Amino acid sequence: MGKYQCYYCEKDTDSAHQIYFFQSKQEREELLCDVCYSDWLESLKSEP
Ligand SMILES: [Zn+2]
Repeated sequence: MGKYQCYYCEKDTDSAHQIYFFQSKQEREELLCDVCYSDWLESLKSEP
C-alpha cells in the first residue's frame, strides 16, 4: 500500500506529484503517480 492514491489510475503510490488544473472553471488540485505525472507533462508539451 502506498501513502497516496493516484487521481488518474487510482493506484496506490509512495511518490506522488501534485498537479493543478482547471475543470469547469474551477481550479482543482490532485495527486498523480510517477507514470501518470510524466504522461500529464507530455500532454502539456503537446499543446500548441
Ligand atoms: Zn497513476
